[in-house]
Amino acid sequence: MARLIDGTMIAQKVRAEVAQGVLKLSEVKPGLATVLVGDDPASQAYVSSKQKACAQVGITSFGRHLSATASQAEVEAAVRELGQDPAVHGILVQLPLPAHLNEEAVLSCVPLEKDVDGFHPINLGRLAMKGREPLFVPCTPAGCIRLLQETGVQLAGAEAVVVGRSNIVGMPAALLLVRQDATVTIVHSRTRSMAEAIRRADVLVVAIGKPRFVTREMVKPGAVVIDVGINRISDPSSPRGSRLVGDVDFEGVSQVAEAITPVPGGVGPMTIAMLLQNTLTAARHAVTLAPSSTTSVVDK
Ligand code: NDP
Repeated sequence: MARLIDGTMIAQKVRAEVAQGVLKLSEVKPGLATVLVGDDPASQAYVSSKQKACAQVGITSFGRHLSATASQAEVEAAVRELGQDPAVHGILVQLPLPAHLNEEAVLSCVPLEKDVDGFHPINLGRLAMKGREPLFVPCTPAGCIRLLQETGVQLAGAEAVVVGRSNIVGMPAALLLVRQDATVTIVHSRTRSMAEAIRRADVLVVAIGKPRFVTREMVKPGAVVIDVGINRISDPSSPRGSRLVGDVDFEGVSQVAEAITPVPGGVGPMTIAMLLQNTLTAARHAVTLAPSSTTSVVDK
């Protein structure tokens, strides 16, 4: 039976590290701004859980909530204003944006040094380049690497397979694994002989958004499995009538894997923890680069 990789516990450890770092950073109080456009309940819930997490580690939250009908210019202006606020060290634009908005243009208004989501093309480009260091790494893939490091698995030389190639999870996860000297295969919806590719993995990261897609037969015995997927499936036996499952069939795969993340309680808690860590990093950079005023020009 596989070891459980306890994301809740490891995220707690990261949060405690961040809280310590915030205390030590006497020159400035780190600030994270969230930009929310529209009234999607899931996005609102994410934003409020990020704000709560900030409060727990001593990071100040700044919230900008724009209406679902806000124009491109209004959203860009809000992001630019936060970009100029010295009390704001990190800016997070809650995605997805309403369909009428150009996401790429909005994200490009986030200054590189406040890109705590790590989605700026320069940060992602540096991640892909040998000998270059991104200022920030996307939070979910960074969380996956931290989970792997905490398991003690040897990444250098390992066969790693990443299922999914999205900008926010699959591709940066693969780039991070390359930086850890793993030999990386990326599998996606057009991959032929997917099962054989997955079965070669010593380290398997799955991020496709398909409930319980990866089954026991596909996984090499002894593999370490990181399940990023979050899927709600119907479950008449649950009081809510539904429950969350990952992209990996946990029951089957945990019979053969050496270690595996659960869903929920695996990668999910790590994403916010890494966001807090990136915000602390941004505040440290700000102190190093321009130890000037920290007066806010936005409402708290
Ligand atoms: P996207 O939909 O952006 O990307 C999905 C990727 O999976 C694509 O690259 C796609 O391939 C690939 N894919 C889809 N179907 C298959 C298939 N049948 N076989 C192989 N590859 C397939 O999703 P995200 O990366 O944003 O998210 C993936 C999952 O991770 C979701 O469940 C999401 O909820 C979860 N997630 C969890 C987070 C957390 O904090 N734990 C954070 C972010 C996401 P192609 O490129 O060819 O279309």
